[in-house]
Amino acid sequence: MKNVTNQSTVKNPKFDDNCIFCKIVKGELPSTIVFEDSTVLAFRDISGDFPDHVLVVPKMHTKSFLSAPSDILSKVATVAQKIGNDFVSSEKYDGTNFIANCGSAAGQSIDHFHIHVIPRKRGDRSPLSF
Ligand code: 5GP
Ligand code: ZN
Repeated sequence: MKNVTNQSTVKNPKFDDNCIFCKIVKGELPSTIVFEDSTVLAFRDISGDFPDHVLVVPKMHTKSFLSAPSDILSKVATVAQKIGNDFVSSEKYDGTNFIANCGSAAGQSIDHFHIHVIPRKRGDRSPLSF
């Protein structure tokens, strides 16, 4: 998995000027990018709560998993799957959680669709609270 600090080269997707993840996509805020193509950006979560916690987002602004057009959903999920497989095949991890919080009631704090990819080791602390 590569670790490249910005910059994204996205041309003209739909942005929300007040959205932190749109600013990351545009390169207006720093991030540590681990994957990028024309539609999708994956970068390290800033929290440091779990080792190798990655966020996978569409470059276009859409609020959540619930609102994402199906082609965007598919592209984001495919990148998340690839990153999860990279973690497991590296043999550093035994599994991966994929989490998409939708709406504040479900814990969504940034209203730009993202999938959390959190690689897991057997017996480690779970990111799931249920
Ligand atoms: P949510 O709670 O919406 O499912 O997840 C939002 C995630 O975005 C959190 O895990 C939080 O740590 C992460 N986050 C918030 N602000 C930033 C930021 O500026 N940069 C990065 N890389 N991650 C962020
Ligand atoms: Zn956005």
